[in-house]
Amino acid sequence: MSQARVLYDLQQIDTEIRTKKQRLGEVLRLQKEPPALVAAREAAQAAEDELHRWRARHNDLTLEIAGVTDKATRSEERLYSGVVKNPKELNDLQHEVEALGRRRATLEDEALNVMMTVDERRTVERAATAEVERLAGEFNAAVATLKVEQQSLGVHLSKLIEKRGRQATLAQPAALKSYDQLIQEKRGLAVAGLRGSKCQACQMTLAGSTVRAAAEGKLVRCDSCGRILCPL
Ligand SMILES: [Zn+2]
Repeated sequence: MSQARVLYDLQQIDTEIRTKKQRLGEVLRLQKEPPALVAAREAAQAAEDELHRWRARHNDLTLEIAGVTDKATRSEERLYSGVVKNPKELNDLQHEVEALGRRRATLEDEALNVMMTVDERRTVERAATAEVERLAGEFNAAVATLKVEQQSLGVHLSKLIEKRGRQATLAQPAALKSYDQLIQEKRGLAVAGLRGSKCQACQMTLAGSTVRAAAEGKLVRCDSCGRILCPL
C-alpha cells in the first residue's frame, strides 16, 4: 500500500473522529435544560410565591375577623349583662359594639376580595405548573434519546481511536509529520483524492507530471492547494 493511500485512509478515520466528537459535544450541550424550560420554571415559582402571599393575606384577615368578632361578642355580653349600670359606660359600650361591627364588615369585604384573587392566582399557578410539566416531559424524552446516542458515540469513538492508532503505525514518520502539519494548516483536511487529473479538495486540474507521480505511488502534493494527493 502506498504512503498516499495509508495517509488517505488515516484522513478518513480522522475526519470521522472529528465529526463524531463534534456531535458528541452537541449531544452533551443539548442535555442542558433549554431556556424555555428554565423560564417556565421561574414563572411557575413566581406564580406559586404570589399565590402563597395572597393565601397568607387571607389567613391574616380571617384571624383578624375572628379577633374582632370575639371582642364584639364580649362587649355585647357586657352591654346586656346588667352588670354595667353607668349610662356613659353603657353608651361607650354600645358605640364600641357598633364600631366593631363596621370594622368586621370592612374586613369581611376585603377577605372576600382577597379570596377571589387567591382563586385567580391559583388558576395562573396551575397553568404555569402545567407548562413546566409539558416542557419538562418533552425535554426528558429528548434527553433519554440523547443519552442513547451519547453512549453509542462513545463506543464508536473509542473504536475509531484504536483504529487510528493501528493506521498511524503504517505511515512512515516523515509522511506522518507532513500529514500532521497539513492537518493544522488545512483545517483538518491534509489528504485530497485525485480523480483523473482533478484534485477533489480544491477542484483544480493538475499537471500531467504531478498526476503521473501520484499514480506511481509517490507522495506528491496538489500544485494548487498543497494537500497530499491520493489517486482514487
Ligand atoms: Zn488541491
